[in-house]
Amino acid sequence: MGAHAGRFAGKTALVTGGSRGIGRGIAERLGRDGARVGVHFGSNEVAAKETVAAIEAEGGSAFAIGTELGTEGDARALWSRFDAHADGLDILVNNAGIGTSSSFTETEVAEYDRLFAVNVKAPYFITQLGAERLRDGGRVINISSGLSRAAAMPEIMAYAMTKGALDVFTQNLSKVLGPRGITVNSVAPGIVDTDNNAGWLRGEENKDAWESSAKLSALGRIGEASDIGDVVSFLASHDGRWVTGAWIDATGGSLT
Ligand code: NAP
Repeated sequence: MGAHAGRFAGKTALVTGGSRGIGRGIAERLGRDGARVGVHFGSNEVAAKETVAAIEAEGGSAFAIGTELGTEGDARALWSRFDAHADGLDILVNNAGIGTSSSFTETEVAEYDRLFAVNVKAPYFITQLGAERLRDGGRVINISSGLSRAAAMPEIMAYAMTKGALDVFTQNLSKVLGPRGITVNSVAPGIVDTDNNAGWLRGEENKDAWESSAKLSALGRIGEASDIGDVVSFLASHDGRWVTGAWIDATGGSLT
């Protein structure tokens, strides 16, 4: 694909978990804005290729890179694959994450470890190794959750704890990278219609859950991946340059 007009023309982005759900919404928006987008995936290469094709169909440029996160050496493997496609980057979006349906009493050690390995340890080390590739004036955006600031929801306590840790990472990292003009922010979605929530939110049998969840938002609907992609695009843009170390509520007013 040739040069693309748009506010991120000439810039390179990496979106972890960019193949599906919220990450896909982010990847597509950044691609539409002219960034060359690395669409990361874990195991579903087909979905990553679909996202790349969707970006290209709109005149953008993208490439897929696969690495299972939460495994030994994951960050190093991801960057060596990224380096085969691109020379440095401008926008890093740590989006890949997993949820849980285990309450406090049900959570087993292996599940706890996996949640923290994918949701906290992976973005930490991806960013540590990514910082040397990030150009000055760049952006780091961590996808958190409204749950890190919402009233307690002990049904999914360990998941919410991972997002709390990610928010502390955001705050601290903004001080580390600020001198280079790099901003670091957390974006906190509320309930978004993705595969992650399909089991309890989608389909006729879950109509009641859909409706009651929609009512949690002041705007009266479930979030869409593009709602989050648009917020990320703002933070990644020049217009977002004075916002850093922040926790951005992207819950559609679900916490009000
Ligand atoms: P999703 O639809 O399940 O998509 C997850 C994405 O992350 C996929 O691209 C997946 O790739 C990748 N991924 C997951 N585990 C991975 C692993 N171990 N290694 C590598 N890649 C992995 O999830 P989502 O709902 O869009 O959530 C995205 C982010 O938003 C997460 O951090 C989540 O906590 C956060 N969030 C979601 C909601 C919501 O309501 N959906 C609300 C608040 C926050 P593969 O398919 O290849 O595995």
